[in-house]
Amino acid sequence: MSTKDQKFSTKLIHAKTHVEEPFGSVNVPIYQVTTFNQQKNNRYDYSRSGNPTREALEHTVASLENGTYGFAFSSGMAAISSVLCLLKSGDEIIVSHDVYGGTFRAVTQLFTNFNIKAVFANTTDIKEVEKCITEKTKAILFETPSNPFLHVTDIKEIVRVAKEHDLFTIMDNTFMTPYLQQPLDKGVDIVVHSATKYLGGHSDVVAGVAITNSEEFAGKIGFVQNAFGAILSPNDSWLLLRGIKTLKVRLDQQQKSALELAQWLSDNSQVAEVYYPGLPSHPQHKLASEQASGYGAIISFKLKGEEVAKETLNHVVLSSVGVSLGAVESILTHPATMTHASMPLEDKEERGITGHLLRISVGLEDVEDLKEDLKQAFEKAEKAFSYK
Ligand SMILES: *Cc1c(COP(=O)(O)O)cnc(C)c1O
Repeated sequence: MSTKDQKFSTKLIHAKTHVEEPFGSVNVPIYQVTTFNQQKNNRYDYSRSGNPTREALEHTVASLENGTYGFAFSSGMAAISSVLCLLKSGDEIIVSHDVYGGTFRAVTQLFTNFNIKAVFANTTDIKEVEKCITEKTKAILFETPSNPFLHVTDIKEIVRVAKEHDLFTIMDNTFMTPYLQQPLDKGVDIVVHSATKYLGGHSDVVAGVAITNSEEFAGKIGFVQNAFGAILSPNDSWLLLRGIKTLKVRLDQQQKSALELAQWLSDNSQVAEVYYPGLPSHPQHKLASEQASGYGAIISFKLKGEEVAKETLNHVVLSSVGVSLGAVESILTHPATMTHASMPLEDKEERGITGHLLRISVGLEDVEDLKEDLKQAFEKAEKAFSYK
C-alpha cells in the first residue's frame, strides 16, 4: 500500500521517514550529532543543513499535509519568518487582519525594516482582499479559523484570487492541523504550523514546520532554512515525532469535549457570546463544515463583565492560565493582555479583542470537570468583583 492511499491515522504511525535505520528500530533515534564523516556517507554533512531525525520529521509532516517537501524550524515564528524571507525589499504582502499576535509583530515591526510592507485585510471578505492588491503585492498570508474569534476564511476563494493575480499563498494551519484541514489540496502554496501546539500536543516542545508541493518554493525555503539557520534540534524533532502519533486520538476527544463545552457556555448566564465554528450559530458554520472535517478545540467567549473575565483567571483550577494551545491540558487565555498584548490598543479594539474575552484550548480532562471548574470560577469572580 503506498503511503498516499493510507488513512490519516495509519499515516500518523507509519508515514515514510525515508531514514533507514540499520537495527530495524521502530522509531528514528535522536541523532544528537553536529557533523558527519564524509568518507562514510554523502547524504549528511552538517546538522544545520540536514540531520536524520529532523529529516524523518520533515518527511512525516509533509506526508500528513499531502505535501512533498517539509521543513522543521525552531519555532512557529521561525517557520513563518523564514517563509517571509522569500519576499524582497519593496514587496507587499496581504495579511489576515486577525492574524496570530507574533506574526502581526513580525510583519509590522521586523519585516518593515527590510522595506516589506504588510497590508491587513479581512480575508473572510474576498472583495476586501482584492482591493488590497497592488502591483507590488507578492503574497497572501492567512489563517483559518483565525485567532481569537475563529473567523473562517474560504481557502479556495483566496487561492483563486491569488492565482488570478500571480501571488503565492501562505496558510497557517495551526488551529486545524492536517488531520482536519488540508490546504495544499485546495491549492495553497505553502502551509506553516506552530508545531508547538497540536502537532507536539504536550506543552513540551517549541517548534514550527513549513510544507509545500512546489519544487521551486521548496528550493527557496530550504535555502533560507540553511542560510538563516533557525532549525529544529534533533531532540526536539524526536519529541515532535512522538507527539504526532497521537494527533488524531487527541483531537477526536478534544473536539468532542469542545463542542459540549461550547454548548454549555452558550447556555451560561454569565456568558455574553461564544465563538466556536462547530456551533450552528457561528456565522460561518456552513463554510467551516465544508472546508474542514472538524471544528477544532479552541473556543473563545466573552463574559458580560470585563472585570469578571479577568478575575475568572484567578479562580480556575484545572486549566492552566497562560498562552499557547493544542496541548493535552486545557489552557485558558486572556487575549487582550496575553496573546495580543503587543498589539496597539486601537488595533485590538478595532478587532473586538476587549478585556471581556477569554479563550480556552480544550484539553483531555473530563469535560464535566472542565464545566464544573469554569462554573465555580465564574461564580467566585462575580462575587469577588461585587465586593470591590
Ligand atoms: C503559536 C502560534 C504561532 C507561533 O508559533 P510559536 O511556535 O509560538 O513560535 C503562529 N501561529 C499560530 C496560529 C499560533 O497559534
